[in-house]
Amino acid sequence: MDIVSTTSATYIVASLLFVLSLAGLSKHESAKNGLTYGIVGMAVALLFTVIAVIDANSDGGSSVAVPLMLVAIAAGAAIGLWRARIVEMTGMPELIAALHSFVGLAAVLIGINGHIEGSHYPLASLNNIHEAEVAIGIFIGAVTFTGSIVANLKLSGRMKSDPLMLPGKNLINVGSLALFAVLTVVYVAGDGGRGQDVVLAVLTVLALALGWHLVASIGGGDMPVVVSMLNSYSGWAAAASGFLLGNDLLIVTGALVGSSGAYLSYIMCKAMNRSFISVIAGGFGIAAPAEDRDYGEHREIQADDVAELLAHASSVVITPGYGMAVAQAQYPVAEMTRKLREKGVEVRFGIHPVAGRLPGHMNVLLAEAKVPYDIVLEMDEINDDLPDTDVVLVIGANDTVNPAALEEPSSPIAGMPVLEVWRAKEVIVFKRSMATGYAGVQNPLFFKENTQMLFGDAKDKVNEIVAALG
Ligand code: NDP
Repeated sequence: MDIVSTTSATYIVASLLFVLSLAGLSKHESAKNGLTYGIVGMAVALLFTVIAVIDANSDGGSSVAVPLMLVAIAAGAAIGLWRARIVEMTGMPELIAALHSFVGLAAVLIGINGHIEGSHYPLASLNNIHEAEVAIGIFIGAVTFTGSIVANLKLSGRMKSDPLMLPGKNLINVGSLALFAVLTVVYVAGDGGRGQDVVLAVLTVLALALGWHLVASIGGGDMPVVVSMLNSYSGWAAAASGFLLGNDLLIVTGALVGSSGAYLSYIMCKAMNRSFISVIAGGFGIAAPAEDRDYGEHREIQADDVAELLAHASSVVITPGYGMAVAQAQYPVAEMTRKLREKGVEVRFGIHPVAGRLPGHMNVLLAEAKVPYDIVLEMDEINDDLPDTDVVLVIGANDTVNPAALEEPSSPIAGMPVLEVWRAKEVIVFKRSMATGYAGVQNPLFFKENTQMLFGDAKDKVNEIVAALG
């Protein structure tokens, strides 16, 4: 078998490994295996791509192609390893957004290369298909590139998470799409001269601006959908590059990422009770209007008293949020859970689909701290049990337990399903201050009669409770 056939065969194996990887990642128990399949698939794909490039350039090929490729792989691997080593769990969302931007940039560069190189199809009549691939690849890539940069800036707090409200923003989005369609037709119909270069340059600038505008006009509360949406875009950008390069593996992998990202966006939209179109149109998560509303007084409690309350409870539900990730409180939380279970207290976790800053963020943290999977429940599985729960511990969660989402139609998060913790007998909220959560909305939960605030760093406070539990 020659190298080309061997490479094609290994690409099929790698594609299957990626499918197995996705299947594995869909469940806690099989997630590690899923990850291993993905790593092996990527290693196989990379190895055989390198071998294929070396073979193609072995006699009479380019003398710089192989060294350039090896330098690029070494630099990419070194930067990737370095970033992955130092990234904090709380920094994962912005790292992922940055990685999506690289996929977008790569698709733009591959598109430009495809334009310069011309068609690889044997029939001249298929030229138009090649040109359409160039235009579409560059468009999706450029939107992903700038959109991901804005998402990175917003998630890392270097850009305000408020939505940019340009007048006629829907018109800008729809108009840009229409203009893209027109420019693509003009580009494909072009005769290959200077004019065609200019059309492609205009199309690229339009897509870069649209990507920026699209994400800039989406507010803080909708960021979960943005992250998964850009994930999907990066997949389609890779698939478009696959068509241009005639690389089947890139097409399959891109389609897998694109469709799973689209499905994740659908799940996130459902979790937030939003339609995908309304998220794209922006406006949700707008900073709440300054209100003089008097919510009443809040009550405070100390760690020793919480320990006392917990030791006498028969059922406890813990609802973690972003603050647990910031404090890295998952380890003492796991220890507290163990101690309470030893005392015969039923302890379960209620996870909101958008808790934290990443889909599945809380599940990852709890699994890391070895909390048993079977006591970690989804919001829909736990909500009905909350009225019969003695104590709910809200550890660093805010927006995901905000009753305003259900009770105040004018709230920026109105309509989003939340963990209805206030229906339990006692609620203890762990946080450092009375500050609002990510969506910038005040939380009436803090002022309810059955709620008490435990102020301080969540890790310190849970450690104090663990010590008091003896
Ligand atoms: P929130 O961001 O609403 O609130 C987190 C709370 O944690 C804050 O009120 C903060 O209060 C507290 N906190 C921060 N640090 C600590 C600490 N060291 N110790 C104790 N408490 C701390 O969290 P939720 O998880 O409830 O909600 C997630 C929000 O993020 C939603 O609005 C969601 O839409 C958004 N989002 C989610 C993404 C996802 O994919 N899951 C992606 C992007 C955004 P204080 O400062 O007073 O301590």
